[in-house]
Amino acid sequence: MKNFDLIVIGGGSGGVRAARIAANHGASVALIEEYRLGGTCVIRGCVPKKLMVYASRFAHDFEEAKGYGWDFDNARFDWSTLKLKRDQEVARLEAIYRKNLLAAGVVIYEGHASFVDSKTIQLSDKEMLTGNTILIATGGVPVQNDSYEGAQYTIDSNEFFDLEKQPKKVVIHGAGYIALEFACIFRLLGSEVDVVIRGENILRGFDKDIQSQLTKELLMSGINLHFSNNIKAIKNEGGSFTVALNDGALLDSDCVLRAIGRVPNTTALGLEKIGIALNNQGAIVVNPFSETTVTGIYAVGDVTNRVNLTPMAIREGHAFADTVFGKTPRVVAHDLVPTAVFTTPEVGVVGLTEEQALKQFPKLDVYSTVFRPMKATLSGSDSKVLFKLLVDRVTDRVLGFHSIGHDTGEMIQLLGVALQMKATKKDLDATLAVHPTAAEEWVTFR
Ligand code: FAD
Ligand code: NDP
Repeated sequence: MKNFDLIVIGGGSGGVRAARIAANHGASVALIEEYRLGGTCVIRGCVPKKLMVYASRFAHDFEEAKGYGWDFDNARFDWSTLKLKRDQEVARLEAIYRKNLLAAGVVIYEGHASFVDSKTIQLSDKEMLTGNTILIATGGVPVQNDSYEGAQYTIDSNEFFDLEKQPKKVVIHGAGYIALEFACIFRLLGSEVDVVIRGENILRGFDKDIQSQLTKELLMSGINLHFSNNIKAIKNEGGSFTVALNDGALLDSDCVLRAIGRVPNTTALGLEKIGIALNNQGAIVVNPFSETTVTGIYAVGDVTNRVNLTPMAIREGHAFADTVFGKTPRVVAHDLVPTAVFTTPEVGVVGLTEEQALKQFPKLDVYSTVFRPMKATLSGSDSKVLFKLLVDRVTDRVLGFHSIGHDTGEMIQLLGVALQMKATKKDLDATLAVHPTAAEEWVTFR
């Protein structure tokens, strides 16, 4: 039986980073992946999704270009060309992941891993490995459930990436990141889109002004939003579907996308054999150093359900490797997380929402503006930009940046730096504007 200093289960964002850094620190490392190296982000998440977002936005660009004298009346889109090129790019990235792991000296095993005991892992082909330390980085999976009749006809975000043809009428269940990003992709590519939302708001946990402005933008783009509603049943009519909603509406569809959340992936891992504690959402419980309740077994990324974003999984994986193998223990902060929702227009936020800020900082100054970006003057687009800045009046510290509009995902990265550096409103005021840009509004609030 081969023994390693570290066995990593899962070759996604967190696992790959942890394996490479631990190997660089001199550890012997095995990494086990059951599907494809790169994990959710590279294979069926952030990367292929963003390529689809880019593809979809050309529709806007062509439309807007007319106001600038261009003629794109014959522009046509071919789903299979995009799928082919996207899949090739994903394969290229996967190969780079493999090459980098091998270059770092990591031994890669293919197959499903499960615990035999707290030091022994069994692979699908029954081979056994032992590890002095084991890292669980198995990510998350789409929620499978839903007990209504016909739920089996839905597809999830993984299956979205397998679609060979563009569905013309899409029903999307859910109102989180995935539901709304995919709704915009489909809509801009010309599909009819209905989004079924169980509550009264989209994007739970986001600032209320972001929720309401994005709602307006989605409606303006022609997406139908069914609030306070749910799917009651789906009838398969020979390949196309009739989706019955609770309010009695019947929606025709050739694709129903289930985007009602993701859950930690602990499937068939044998965790019960080693007594690792899970919380009530099925996530592995860890301490600030990502150690589980079993000594020597760690977990990072979505399987711990802390902040389910790629940069966080990478950071947790890196910190774990530095802590255990690099003699530089460190914990990862899970606050001040910049994030973007790649709808069109996109959302970029970092810091507290107004509701959260008011609870801690009752003397709150709220600066906000909704404006028509300069580009829209000739393009005729009705889409607006929203910027909202929250400042604690007592200390002048900025508490949150919230935005919707073109490139706000790019802007929020640097606003995240400002927040990290404890920027004050005076710092923003002292920064000279870059003119003419939309971003200059961040430094001209008075
Ligand atoms: P994963 O990347 O999921 O990797 C886990 C790996 O473990 C997988 O490869 C899996 O096959 C493997 N595995 C599981 N069980 C076993 C086992 N028993 N044996 C062997 N291997 C196993 N985040 C962003 O920051 N920005 C985005 O734009 C973004 N877009 C997203 C879009 C979609 C559609 C989805 C679904 C997610 C998106 N995310 C995005 C979230 C991001 O993908 C995850 O937060 C991130 O991938 C988590 O990394 P991880 O290492 O925890 O898990
Ligand atoms: P989210 O948790 O973001 O959203 C889930 C949505 O499904 C919510 O609108 C929720 O409603 C709804 N929902 C949950 N259960 C049901 C149900 N039984 N019936 C009807 N509706 C239901 O999950 P996603 O799957 O969209 O994304 C998972 C995570 O992946 C994200 O939270 C994010 O961390 C990451 N991600 C990040 C991206 C990025 O960075 N751009 C892109 C994609 C994913 P309610 O609000 O009422 O709870």
